[in-house]
Amino acid sequence: MGGLAQALVEVVGPEHVQRDVTPFLTDVTEAPPGHADVVVRPATADEVVAVIRIVHERGLPVTPVVAGYNVAGLAIPRRGGVVLDLTRLDRIIEVDRESMYVVVEPGVTFGQLKAHLDAEAPELVYAYPFAPPFTSVMANALLDGLNNLSLRHGAMGLWINGLEAVLADGTVVRTGAGAVSDVWFGRAPLPDLTGLFVSTQGTTGVVTRIALQLQPKPEHRVRWFAFAHDLGAAHGAMRALARTGSFDDVGLMTWPAGKMLFGATRGLVRDDGEPMAFLFIDVTAASAAELAARVEMARQILHDHGVEPPFEVADLLKLVPKYAKLAELPTTLDFLLDFPGGGLSWVGSYGPGDRWVAGAEKGLALLEEAGFPPFLVARPMAGGHYFVLRFVACFDKADAEEVERVRTVMGRLADAVLDHGYVPYKASADAARRVLDRAHPGFVDLWARVRQALDPDGRMNPGRW
Ligand SMILES: Cc1cc2nc3c(=O)[nH]c(=O)nc-3n(C[C@H](O)[C@H](O)[C@H](O)COP(=O)(O)OP(=O)(O)OC[C@H]3O[C@@H](n4cnc5c(N)ncnc54)[C@H](O)[C@@H]3O)c2cc1C
Repeated sequence: MGGLAQALVEVVGPEHVQRDVTPFLTDVTEAPPGHADVVVRPATADEVVAVIRIVHERGLPVTPVVAGYNVAGLAIPRRGGVVLDLTRLDRIIEVDRESMYVVVEPGVTFGQLKAHLDAEAPELVYAYPFAPPFTSVMANALLDGLNNLSLRHGAMGLWINGLEAVLADGTVVRTGAGAVSDVWFGRAPLPDLTGLFVSTQGTTGVVTRIALQLQPKPEHRVRWFAFAHDLGAAHGAMRALARTGSFDDVGLMTWPAGKMLFGATRGLVRDDGEPMAFLFIDVTAASAAELAARVEMARQILHDHGVEPPFEVADLLKLVPKYAKLAELPTTLDFLLDFPGGGLSWVGSYGPGDRWVAGAEKGLALLEEAGFPPFLVARPMAGGHYFVLRFVACFDKADAEEVERVRTVMGRLADAVLDHGYVPYKASADAARRVLDRAHPGFVDLWARVRQALDPDGRMNPGRW
């Protein structure tokens, strides 16, 4: 250990090698605590390479982490070794306003990127999640997350034009157009090696820079809420809105989210007449006339599917400022993060729209049977090609019985979504096992070969997949 720490100190300086690993051994979820030997905080890609070489020479595991808020235990070190804290790699390297992409390092956060674009390229936007502003833009893309333009453009892995990564032995690799051209304009038309790093949870290499697509910022925008009284109506409306290709974002949260926003934590009850869910809808356009046409079309679709007439979030905020949390992303959903006892977990998944209602009903019933409110977040993705089902539970981490109940229900939820043809994203170790148990043997074999080729000793973020 002394030799390892000394070698790391020579790369990053003594103030960036930390013997106290405790803050990195747990996260907000029910995942059991991990263990590690040392935390190292490099500041440049060259320092990452030097650290990985040291780790490689000694045959040690390495677990990369930025904010550690993936909500699946994915950055908890499972086999000891080095925690690679990437928060100091926080440069926005380039914004290409013509080809509309940004190149960022792992420590760049959503709050930082939004502020940068607003100041330096106000005609462009990135897509933002409900994740806190201090979380990593890169980690969210590598994990195939879902953000507020994912209805139009799909899961965030698809937004990656290319990347630079350090493999387990310290080799530096590049993918995407930037491997050949000085402009990182896209992934086509090369062999698509970027996918080797998407949804792989840090097991194939440490990414040190990534090129991410930006989108033009529309001149006109309204954000709506609309109440739905049953899941069938909500699904019908989301499906129809998605299929017009005319809307930026359409999503859903069930009623417990509304109660928790106003401070309720336990004993939540849905009163008679209260809606089952609220939809959030972003309508944008390049001109006032286009916006008016889209607004009219959306109103008609909601009406046709039995959803209540929408109201503008801007109007609602005047009456109920607390809704500001849901009005603009990125945002801090403190009602989730500050739940008494600090526990937050979920099973999120992508899958076929025609099984969404049945999957939602099954998952909500499982949550209620386990004593948790029926909290669901959903969204059509990629123009309606697939949908999201994400079942959420907040809990007290100090209550062993409740933690065990969360663990059990998350396993059941993972099975339930798989039963409905859905596939968990950002799969926890437990969910990943369930996925691989059901996967085609050819998928399991190919994945094993990829890992064997890139990380034969299984040292890169071990314990995942
Ligand atoms: C309240 C709340 C709401 C959220 N809402 C959303 C949402 O709407 N949509 C969504 O997609 N996500 C959401 N998230 C999940 C998550 O916060 C984001 O996806 C986030 O961007 C992850 O960033 P992080 O810094 O926490 O990553 P970390 O947890 O630090 O890392 C995530 C994973 O990536 C690996 N990793 C990190 N850096 C690298 C690297 N450079 N190279 C290789 N592997 C790496 C880690 O080992 C880990 O496996 C939410 C989280 C919370 C707490």
